[in-house]
Amino acid sequence: MFERIERVPGDAILGLIEAFKKDTNPQKVDLGVGVYRDDNGNTPVMRAVKEAETRLLKSETTKTYIGSHGAPAYGDAVLPLVLGADSPVLEADRASATQSPGGTGALRLAADFIAKQLPGKGIWVSDPTWPNHHGIFTAAGIELHKYPYVDADNRLDFDGMLAAIKKIPDGDVVVLHACCHNPTGFDLSAEQWQTVLDVVRERNLLPLIDFAYQGFGQGLDEDAYGVRLFAEQLDEVIITSSCSKNFGIYCERTGCLIAVAKDAEQKDNIRSQFAIVARENYSNPPAHGSAIVSEILHDAELSAMWRDELTEMRDRVNTLRRDFVEALKPYGLDKKYACVGEQRGMFSYTGLTPDQVERLRDEFGIYMVRSGRANVAGFSQQNLPYLARAIAVVNDV
Ligand code: PMP
Repeated sequence: MFERIERVPGDAILGLIEAFKKDTNPQKVDLGVGVYRDDNGNTPVMRAVKEAETRLLKSETTKTYIGSHGAPAYGDAVLPLVLGADSPVLEADRASATQSPGGTGALRLAADFIAKQLPGKGIWVSDPTWPNHHGIFTAAGIELHKYPYVDADNRLDFDGMLAAIKKIPDGDVVVLHACCHNPTGFDLSAEQWQTVLDVVRERNLLPLIDFAYQGFGQGLDEDAYGVRLFAEQLDEVIITSSCSKNFGIYCERTGCLIAVAKDAEQKDNIRSQFAIVARENYSNPPAHGSAIVSEILHDAELSAMWRDELTEMRDRVNTLRRDFVEALKPYGLDKKYACVGEQRGMFSYTGLTPDQVERLRDEFGIYMVRSGRANVAGFSQQNLPYLARAIAVVNDV
């Protein structure tokens, strides 16, 4: 039977990683892969994570299953992190947490829940969005639609987005990026969140907010602005949260599916359904990552250490954004690429065209995906002058 199976092309990013590894150019720069990098190009284990692991190794007494909802202590720590320590939603017992294998796992749980419990409802994602949104929602059998997000001049197309959302059929699901939009880096302002909320309420849509980069944009609380506004103002919201980036525990697969419902009873009903989809997918989530996160968040000293380090990472990315634009000034390109300084998070839609991306790779060993999305954490004080010169060359300056 297997002779009929066709080979499919691998992930474009993986191809990029391979090509980068083979490149012998000593000045080569990797702006493709989606993980945080420090100035030396490493993705280190955070100090608070190492300390939490040391403590866990000593205190761990069992490796038994942790249950479909994961570790209760993890849920108790993540809910206030996402919704706010003194959230009225938590006060009213309207939110539940189900631990998941990463943000991806939370998205898949949400997708299966929607396909099963809200049959016939379509799902709307930004164009562009993280490509795996397409894969996850279609794999669950949900009909996928797009709303515009970026205009031809590489700016947030808020008018286009709003006009499209206004036409979404009653009861469909709309996916919003809480912060640090992947791949563009364009985030909504407070005012824009409110405008979207009004339309979501008017059209009776179910918001699914993907929160994969809390703390990478402007701050842990600042980045949660839209999430908290929606959870407090609407009866029903689904949130998928990830600890991969903000705790740097990518391989530990640590995320959370949060349901916000009208009241405690409806919340518990939904929660019971989440346990079923979790069981059907993988039974129980992995334990180690969530144990790290709860060890940190339930300990004042480790929490402070973690917050400081996350601030360092965020500040580094935001400084590099500004320095990148600054480095382009001598070439008269600072205005053209000013958006990189204004966007948030790890990624930037630079506005570089596929041809320019190709030239950067072939002539300078600078690697990024064809859309011109760059991982800003791949910039460094050492490589910025080289990057700026290369970008000037492909702009014929
Ligand atoms: N959503 C978005 C927008 C992402 O960029 C990512 C990670 N690249 C995820 C979800 C999934 O994160 P995780 O690694 O925790 O599965």
